[in-house]
Amino acid sequence: MQWAWQTYGHKAAASSSFQTQSVPLLHLISQTCPKMPVMFLDTGFHFPETLTFRDELQARFNLNLVIVRSTVEKSQLIAQYGEGLYRRDPDLCCYIHKVEPMQKTNSGFQGWISGVRRDQTTNRQGLSILEPQDTGPLRIHPMLNWTKKEVWEYIDRHQLPAHPLFSNGYLSVGCAPCTRPVFSGQDERAGRWAGQDKAECGLHIGLKNNTEG
Ligand code: SF4
Repeated sequence: MQWAWQTYGHKAAASSSFQTQSVPLLHLISQTCPKMPVMFLDTGFHFPETLTFRDELQARFNLNLVIVRSTVEKSQLIAQYGEGLYRRDPDLCCYIHKVEPMQKTNSGFQGWISGVRRDQTTNRQGLSILEPQDTGPLRIHPMLNWTKKEVWEYIDRHQLPAHPLFSNGYLSVGCAPCTRPVFSGQDERAGRWAGQDKAECGLHIGLKNNTEG
């Protein structure tokens, strides 16, 4: 991250979903490049606890928080697709609320840091720490080789806080309609899009643009 900041300066930014596993990256940003913009995608579907946790972490680490939102009005979406798009077509919902707004924001940056780890999903196993893209900023994954155990060791060592819903079984927290708690022994992301053939929002694997359909 120091390399990214020294190389790209204000043309480097990080993104975070502000959940428990995000805290080490945010802590490291506060220690190494505290002025780096940290983007948070506000989909309008977050748990209130996530927004509270985000604000607490922003204050605690004095983060340069940037809120990213879709420019598409909710009323326009409902008129076009009806209620509950996240149930009928979660890929399209993620594209509209996450992928497209992030692409627009990212077009102004040359380096994009995110806290993805190889041990989170099958798709992420094939990522590299530095991922050039055909268009858009260089993707930088400083935590790619961290394990879940190392994340927790870091959290314990620095006495960092957990997301308020973590103790209720929400080991990975996304939008409220698409997140449920996990049961004992389940994978930490088992509660994301549970029961659907979907494991990623598309930010880190390039979700197909199917908004034309
Ligand atoms: S996680 Fe669910 S609610 Fe959030 S943008 Fe994706 S489909 Fe929509």
